[in-house]
Amino acid sequence: MKNKGILIRFDDIAENMNWHLMDKCEYLFEKYNIKPVVGIIPCNRDSELLSYPKRKNFWEIVRKWKSKNWEIAMHGYTHIYDSTTNKKDYFNYGGKSEFFGHSINDQVNKIKEGLKIFNDNQIKVRVFFAPNHTYDQNTFEALKICGINQVIDGYGLIPYEENNIKFIPQLFYKLIALPYGIQTTQIHLNYWREKHFSKFENFIEKNLSRIINYDQALSKINNSFYSKILNTSVKNILKTKRVLFN
Ligand SMILES: [Zn+2]
Repeated sequence: MKNKGILIRFDDIAENMNWHLMDKCEYLFEKYNIKPVVGIIPCNRDSELLSYPKRKNFWEIVRKWKSKNWEIAMHGYTHIYDSTTNKKDYFNYGGKSEFFGHSINDQVNKIKEGLKIFNDNQIKVRVFFAPNHTYDQNTFEALKICGINQVIDGYGLIPYEENNIKFIPQLFYKLIALPYGIQTTQIHLNYWREKHFSKFENFIEKNLSRIINYDQALSKINNSFYSKILNTSVKNILKTKRVLFN
C-alpha cells in the first residue's frame, strides 16, 4: 500500500455544470467516504460550460464540500483559452491555454482575482491546476507570488517537488488503475452520459481500498534518487505514448 493510491480529481466544477451527475457523484462519495479534489473555476466564462444549468447557492455548496474535507482546488480563473502553446508549455502537452505565454503580471492578476473570489466566499485554497494542463515558468512564479505552491499535474508515479512547487502527478484521461504509484484521475462530468457514471461507480467499488485523499497524496512526496529515476522513465514513456493513453 505504501506507494499505491488513487486520488479522485474532478475538473471543471462551476456554477453552470451537469449538476444531475454531480449530485449522483456526491452521493457516491458519501456512501464510500471518499474525499475528492474538486477543481473549481472561480469566474467561469467558458461558453460550453455556461450552456449547462446554473445552481443557486453555488458557494454554499462549495463550503459544504469543504466541511466534508473535500479538497477545494482552483482550476484556472475564467477557463477561457487565449493562447496556444505549440508544445512549448511546461509539460510539452501542447494545445490552448489560459495561462501559457502571458506575462508574469497578467498571470499574477488572474490568480489573484480568482483567489479573491474564493476568499470572498470564505474558502481557503492551497492547490491549483490549470485548464488543459498548460503552464509556463511564469505560471509557477505567479502561483508562488500568490502563496500557492501545490499543483495537481505533471508526469510521474510519485508526487515530487520541483522549483519549490509540490506536484501531484496526473497522467491519464481514462480511468486506469496502475499496479504501482500514486495516481490522480481527471474526471470531466460535463462530458458524461449515464453509462459513464456507471463505469465510474464500478471503478470506485473495485478500487475502494486504494482511494486516498489529498493530504495522503501530499504525504507521498518523495525526491529520492529512485523516485526521480522512476518519474523520469514514466515521463519519457508517456511523452511518446500520451496520444495513445489520452
Ligand atoms: Zn478544465
